[in-house]
Amino acid sequence: MQKKPIKRITGGLVQYDGAGVKLVRVIGRQDVKDFDPFLMLDAFDATESEDYVKGFPWHPHRGIETVTYLIEGMIEHGDSLGNRGTINDGCCQWMTAGSGIIHQEMPQESPRMLGTQLWLNLPQKDKMTEPAYRDIRAAEIPMIENPGSQVRIISGTYQQVSGPVQGAYVKTLYLDVSLEPNVTWSLELDAQDTLFIYLVRGSVETDGQQVPYHRAILFGEGDTLQLRSLDEGARFFLHAAKGLGEPIAWAGPIVMNTREELLLAQKELNDGTFIKHS
Ligand code: FE
Repeated sequence: MQKKPIKRITGGLVQYDGAGVKLVRVIGRQDVKDFDPFLMLDAFDATESEDYVKGFPWHPHRGIETVTYLIEGMIEHGDSLGNRGTINDGCCQWMTAGSGIIHQEMPQESPRMLGTQLWLNLPQKDKMTEPAYRDIRAAEIPMIENPGSQVRIISGTYQQVSGPVQGAYVKTLYLDVSLEPNVTWSLELDAQDTLFIYLVRGSVETDGQQVPYHRAILFGEGDTLQLRSLDEGARFFLHAAKGLGEPIAWAGPIVMNTREELLLAQKELNDGTFIKHS
């Protein structure tokens, strides 16, 4: 057994995106080498509705998957495939932009908006795949309870139980882990996989270091993650996948492999040919 060391801790930066949504960009384009295949993690934790109600009006995506998961809150959405719906407490939207989707994401007033949006890169060969959309209700997310821990499985497999998504393009383990105070929790993984956790509440100790909430911890090589919650317990999202190791060309909501592909996307947006499937 080789315990995973901490490679990096990041707290991210407060930013305004969309039409004026206050969020914390925990990881972003400057982190992409370390976090491959994860491109971005935006975290929302707001009790003032003016921080989020302006929302993310109609915008395009291509070449990525976006995964939105809310512990609390409500986001109304609609897209160019004709999907309409609401992401509520405990629900997840798994959207494969592929060749192109145009959508809007509009948070609605609620007592608290708490959750994240993760951007997952698509492999070069799948960048232009057919767009797809999964609306995962809270009841579809299995939960494993052990003494001191509750683990919700959004994608991948944990203790022989599979979540609603396996990752058609990038196999991803996405867990939502809650620990009672002073609980040691461990997980075995492929030593080479990219692994990071984002602490939603509480704090943990790992690799001899105490880390408080609203931080992401990226781990280095090793086959076993081991951490312990501190006195107030902890809740964190865990993300693991194999890196793609492919070139990245990134322009806002479009992430491709070459500059030519970005220019083509821009041209298609201008002349109305961006959407290939509807
Ligand atoms: Fe979007």
